[in-house]
Parts: sequence; structure tokens; C-alpha cells
Amino acid sequence: MTVHQVGAHSYYVEGLLEEASRANEGFIANAGFVITSDGVVVFDSLGSPALADQLIAEIRKRTDQPIRRVIISHFHADHFYGIPAFRRIGAKIWVDTHAHAYLNSRAAVERLTERKQLIGRWLGPGFNLPKPDRWLDKPEAFDMGGVHFSLRRVGPAHSPEDLTMLVEPDGVLYSGDVVYSGRVPFIGEADTRQWLLAIDQLLTIPARVMVPGHGPASLDPRRDSQLTRDYLIFLREQMGEAARNLVPFREAYGKVDWSRFKAEPAFGAANRRNAYNVYLEMEQESLSP
Ligand SMILES: [Zn+2]
Repeated sequence: MTVHQVGAHSYYVEGLLEEASRANEGFIANAGFVITSDGVVVFDSLGSPALADQLIAEIRKRTDQPIRRVIISHFHADHFYGIPAFRRIGAKIWVDTHAHAYLNSRAAVERLTERKQLIGRWLGPGFNLPKPDRWLDKPEAFDMGGVHFSLRRVGPAHSPEDLTMLVEPDGVLYSGDVVYSGRVPFIGEADTRQWLLAIDQLLTIPARVMVPGHGPASLDPRRDSQLTRDYLIFLREQMGEAARNLVPFREAYGKVDWSRFKAEPAFGAANRRNAYNVYLEMEQESLSP
């Protein structure tokens, strides 16, 4: 786990550009931390308590300040399964209130079963879906040790509960999975129309550096969000046309020329499922007035 510093107070670790596997122990997402003179704020908790413990050890190499708060960008396994490790050391966990829906969903139970099989060793015995200490129902800003944090709700986009965090004076924006840099995104149940709008909204935030949910930090957020944007637009066009013309998914998928995205990391693992989810979404859109 390599720590990158992106501002006077701001750091992040970068997960691998892969889907979760036993080999990568579920370390496939980024997490950030911000060290102030009055405590540490963490952004996302990684994909297991074991990974979170490694992140805590990295923070401890740099400061003795207490880790007070963990902001979770959204409730996907690779970002929030590390919560118990932070709770054990007294941090308070904040998440947008829309994550309620996920915690009560079948998708959450299925994902938990899958991850227990895959990386159960690192989740630990008795692991269950971790819950936050505080549900946010509006945008939030706070100061800690002379650093200003603003949390912005940008969902529904990649998920219903997407939160971003801007750190000033560092000018560092932690964007969560609204932007994936250097790999094909995971779409899941996302509302891709809203997601595209959220990327535009994100780009209006005056940031010097953007730390995405996956992939390296960016000094040019517009350029580095282009892959996510182009991919979503392409899927919406291709699957939208198929859905409108009542072409079955399997046939439509086989006809698309994917060469533009084929070489991108995670394409093989994620593309077909992404396309299917967008196909269903476009069917819905074509039926609604
Ligand atoms: Zn996600």
C-alpha cells in the first residue's frame, strides 16, 4: 500500500485497477486521508477491515492525531467494508442517507455472500454489513485544525448516495466513484443519465487535484473524467438504440464494435454486465414518457 501526498494535508492510497479477487484481497478502490492539527479525516474505508488496518498503520506513520471521522463516498463493498477497523479506534462514520436503501437491499446481501467467499479471510469472522454513525441528509461543511471540508451530495449518479469531499486550502477533491480514471467503471444499478450530469456538476468544483474512487489522482479533472464520460455515453447510445428497436440484449451486445474500450483495464470483467444494466435502464427510459 503506497501513500501519495497530493496537498499540504491531503493523501491517498490507490487500489488496483481490477475487480476484487483473492489475489488482490479486495484492494481495488482508493481511500484518502487528511491530517490536520486537530485530528484526521478519512475518505472511504477500503474493502475490508484488514485493508483498513493497513491504512490506519500508514496514517500512524505520519501523525499521532486521532482519526476522528470517516466519510464514505458510497456504499459499495470496496469502499465501506473497512468501517469496523475505524470504529474500533473511535472514529465516527458518516454517509449520505440514501445509502439506507442499499443496506436494505438484496443486492447488498448477495454482494456480502460473494465477498465472504472471495476475501472472507480479510473480512474476519462474524463480519456483517457495517452501518454508519451518522446519516447525512443535506450538504455538510466543517472545519478541523484550520482545514475546511465541504461534503457535496452528487447522487443519484454512480450510486444513490454519492458524496464528494473538497479539502481547502489544499484544493483537493475526493470524487468517489463518480469518476474512474484509467479503467472501465462498474455501473451496477446506476442511473447513467444522472451520472453524466453529476460529472458535469463535479467539474464546476474549483479543485487543483481530483482523487477519483479508482485510478490515479488527476491534475486535469476534465481530461481524466473523459473515459468515464465517453464510456457511459457510448453504452447509452448503443444499448438505447437496441432497446428502442426491441433487439434482444444478446444480439445487440454481439453487434457492438467495442474496440474503443477493449484495451481499458477492467473491460473484460465489467463490460458485459455494465452493458446489460444499461440495456435494462434504456428499456425503462424508452417506456417512460
Ligand atoms: Zn462504487
